[in-house]
Order: sequence, then structure tokens, then C-alpha cells
Amino acid sequence: MRIEFEITKKCNDVCPSCGMGAQSLQAGRSLPDAQLDHLLAEFADVGLPSVAITGGEPFVAMRALLRFMSQARGIVEISKLTTNGIWGSRLWTGSPASSTTW
Ligand code: SF4
Repeated sequence: MRIEFEITKKCNDVCPSCGMGAQSLQAGRSLPDAQLDHLLAEFADVGLPSVAITGGEPFVAMRALLRFMSQARGIVEISKLTTNGIWGSRLWTGSPASSTTW
């Protein structure tokens, strides 16, 4: 069993056929730390084996993404991470700190 959740609604792209309901970097929202902590506790409670993370674009919420990945270690496997590849493009500034402004 695997649960998929959107860590952020923000996306750096504006694909006309987007089926994720993504929003701009300015308008979109990301899950706050407290809500991610609550989700992780719920996953642990039910013994969920696996989660998939999507968005929006998960890497524009880099700080929250890295924090969740670190805290999930040993609790639930992150078996899928859907991305548009921003982290491999020239648009990517490269550091978690710089991406927190997204
Ligand atoms: S990259 Fe993905 S989430 Fe972003 S607008 Fe395009 S389809 Fe939607």
C-alpha cells in the first residue's frame, strides 16, 4: 500500500495540460512543517510501508522536502518522487537555502 501526497501546490512551470492543479510560485502553498509532522505520525501509526511525493513541483519546496525525507527515514519508504526536473536545469540555483524563497 502506498499513499501519495502533494508536498506543495507551487510549480515553476505553467504546463497548459497540468492535471495537478499546480499554482505559481507566488500563489501556491506548501504543507507546513507541523502538518508534515502530523502526516508522518499518522503514517507510523498505521504502519504505512510507502509514500509517493508529488506537487506542484516538490523541489521548489526543497527545505520541507529534505526535512520530510530525513524524518521519514526508518518510518516509511519514499518510493516515488515526481518531479519536472527543475533540479537539473539551468534555472536551478542549487542550494536548499536559496530555494526556500520559492
Ligand atoms: S511541471 Fe507538472 S505540476 Fe508543474 S505545471 Fe507542469 S504538469 Fe503541472
